Amino acid sequence: MSVPLERLDHDALTAWLREERGEELERLWQAADRVRREHVGDEVHLRGLIEISSHCVRRCAYCGLSVENREIERYRMGADEILECARLSRKLGYGTVVLQAGEDAGLTRAWIARLVSEIKAETGLAVTLSLGERSAVELAAWRAAGADRYLLRFETSDEGLYRAIHPRRPKGPGHRLEMIPLLKRLGYEAGSGVMVGIPGQSYDILARDIAFFRDLDLDMIGVGPYIAHPSTPLGRGEMPELPESEQVPHGELMTYKVLALTRLVRPDANIPATTALATVNTAQGRELGLARGANVVMPNLTPTRYRKLYEIYPAKACVGESAEDCSSCLDLRIASIGRRAGRGPGSRTRVADQD
Ligand code: SAH
Repeated sequence: MSVPLERLDHDALTAWLREERGEELERLWQAADRVRREHVGDEVHLRGLIEISSHCVRRCAYCGLSVENREIERYRMGADEILECARLSRKLGYGTVVLQAGEDAGLTRAWIARLVSEIKAETGLAVTLSLGERSAVELAAWRAAGADRYLLRFETSDEGLYRAIHPRRPKGPGHRLEMIPLLKRLGYEAGSGVMVGIPGQSYDILARDIAFFRDLDLDMIGVGPYIAHPSTPLGRGEMPELPESEQVPHGELMTYKVLALTRLVRPDANIPATTALATVNTAQGRELGLARGANVVMPNLTPTRYRKLYEIYPAKACVGESAEDCSSCLDLRIASIGRRAGRGPGSRTRVADQD
């Protein structure tokens, strides 16, 4: 029996996540691709990613930048270096720069605000921030300085799993989900998402995560495969997986299923084919992601000397490349699947705004 593609309720989402028949999955890919074309078109929006600092105060059990990992050298880019990357982003034709970092108290409210306003004044690019859980005051100041979007994955909607992998900060929110309405209220386009296949993630939990994408009305949704980092508690296997019948596998195929379902539940969202996907399939991951629901790619602009130090997970795709290498490689990849690079900031156009 076929799983329905309309009315994706909890049972249907779970059934799709468990689906293994090739011809059924083909239906899913085609539906996601059709909905993507109808709602966000053939343009692939490029967001130049600048990994501005690898310092982090948090202890997320999956992430190589955790403060507990003493094996890595930490860096924080200077404002001039970041501005230089933003100029390059404009030169390469990208409409957006994404400033991403660990949760780094050294990135102060005033410093980021000034940086954002300089980037806006000089390049006119859309600016996305991805700096972790920051205070309402900081988020408001950065929005006032001109930041357009904020990315904060909630990682899992399940309370128990969330607590197990995110040791709490005294003053922080109980759950990242609580921060999404705040981001929207401040006028940011809000992005969130999850990793696929973290130990402890069941099919049931992942289906509920996808329903949250719909209910939160997210502007941007990032999903990528979980990749074990040997210097983390999860990577060392210190947290148990569920029995095989319940545990979501962390592979490529499962990520495509989640991407496609995400497109179906949020037809007008901006959805990237992530670097993590390109890491598990260097040859084809991005193209297949773009053919199964995604419409955004985030080429890396981080200077090569820093890239290898920003090791969220090992063997990240493109660590040895320059920004120019990534740009020409992506142009070819996008053209090879009959799509074209987007122009302009590539903000979300809501379904309701389209007619
Ligand atoms: N400090 C920022 C940016 C984190 S990096 C923040 O906390 O939001 C961006 C994303 O990388 C994270 O949200 C997480 O979903 C993903 N990530 C972290 N560790 C990973 C791993 N081991 N495998 C795959 N993705 C990972």
